[in-house]
Amino acid sequence: TEEFLRKSDRLSVVGQLAAGLAHEIRNPLTSLKGFLQLMRERGPNQDHYYEIMSAELNRINFIVSEFLIIAKPQVIQYEMYSLNQLIHTVIQLLEPEATMNNVRMSVKMTDDPIMIYCSEIQMKQVFINLLKNAIEAMQAGGEVRVEAYVERQQVHLRVVDNGAGIPRERLASLGEPFYTTKEKGTGLGLMMCFKIIEAHQGTIQINSQIHEGTEVDIALPLAAQQQGGREERWKNSIKAVP
Ligand code: ADP
Ligand code: MG
Repeated sequence: TEEFLRKSDRLSVVGQLAAGLAHEIRNPLTSLKGFLQLMRERGPNQDHYYEIMSAELNRINFIVSEFLIIAKPQVIQYEMYSLNQLIHTVIQLLEPEATMNNVRMSVKMTDDPIMIYCSEIQMKQVFINLLKNAIEAMQAGGEVRVEAYVERQQVHLRVVDNGAGIPRERLASLGEPFYTTKEKGTGLGLMMCFKIIEAHQGTIQINSQIHEGTEVDIALPLAAQQQGGREERWKNSIKAVP
């Protein structure tokens, strides 16, 4: 769109990276600020906050170092992770921000962990961005529901809010760099989400109803299936050797 062209003309590549860096650092910084506020309100002996805050500082550190090496080809570490665990960690991280915004978060998933083969740091980045968008869409408070389940050999992660919603004609612009409707937004969060999910062989679908809310549905391959697929290809290539 015109708006996007105008903005990208104005920003050099370096400027775009700087904007991305600022965006990704603002998330953990906001969360740190929230924890500091909670600690002040609740007085001394809040040691359990230190661990989370220290994890957030590590995240900032990681993001900065990631950006410092962005020009070089980088190896992203993929491992097996429990989606349930990832969700719990991220929900805990965003709890202060949700509380400050009068937003209640609820989770629905099975007790059996759903395993996904992913880059933990990237997947966390995706969930954080989606939950933040949901919280930011509910200026007057509301509810965010997070659901994880397996259906037709795919892992689904759904984030549902009852916030402002997105007008139909704007749905197509989501994920374009710098598309934002927020005064302090950068419009880079969803772009990162799309890129990361694509790299994980997944898809993102966004449904929204203005004034009613938004549903983001991520579908990812099941870890077992994905690894099986790789092994199949490997076996086939061995067979091809005379
Ligand atoms: P930012 O949050 O910095 O604006 P994003 O890429 O995360 O950038 O989101 C782009 C735009 O998409 C937002 O400015 C907002 O207009 C819209 N959006 C994303 N998620 C939601 C949501 N859950 N509810 C309503 N609008 C949303
Ligand atoms: Mg965002």
